[in-house]
Amino acid sequence: MNDLPRIGLGIDVHRLAEGRPCIVAGVPFDADRGPLGHSDGDAVLHAACDAVLGAAGLDDLGTLFSDRDPANRGRASAEFCRSTMALVRERRLRVLSMDCVLETEVPKLKPARAAMRARLAELFEVPVDRVNIKGKTGEKVDAIGRGEAMRATVVVLLGPA
Ligand code: MG
Repeated sequence: MNDLPRIGLGIDVHRLAEGRPCIVAGVPFDADRGPLGHSDGDAVLHAACDAVLGAAGLDDLGTLFSDRDPANRGRASAEFCRSTMALVRERRLRVLSMDCVLETEVPKLKPARAAMRARLAELFEVPVDRVNIKGKTGEKVDAIGRGEAMRATVVVLLGPA
C-alpha cells in the first residue's frame, strides 16, 4: 500500500494587520500589511504543511506545533516545513507535486511567483517544476476581498521515497 500515491489538502486563513511583516511562501514582501499569527503567519507554508501531514497520515500542524506553546512564538514557518519533511522522510515518503492558491488583496504576488516556487521547492524537497503557486484576489467579496485576511489552499501528492 505504501507505493500508492497519497493526496493531501491544507487550508489556512490569517487576518492581515498593518505594520506586520509580510512573509508568503517563505518569501518576504514589501507591503503595508502582513498576516497576524503566533508564528510569522505564513498561511501558504501552514496550509502546505497541513496538506503534507494529512497525506502522510500524521497529526495536523496545530497539534504538532501548538500556538499555545511559547516556543513557537514568532517562529519562522520554514522551521515547521523542515520538521514536517523530517516526519515524511521517516515514513519513507516524499512530495511528488504541490499546487497552492493564495486568495488575498495584499501583497501582489505575481512579481515574486518564481521566488515563491523556488522556496517551496527547496522547503518541500521537490523539483521546481512540480510545485506551483497562484494568487487570486477576493473580488471585493467578504473579509478577503476587503483586504482583512488571506486564505491559502494547498493540495499535495506524496509517493514512496
Ligand atoms: Mg496558520
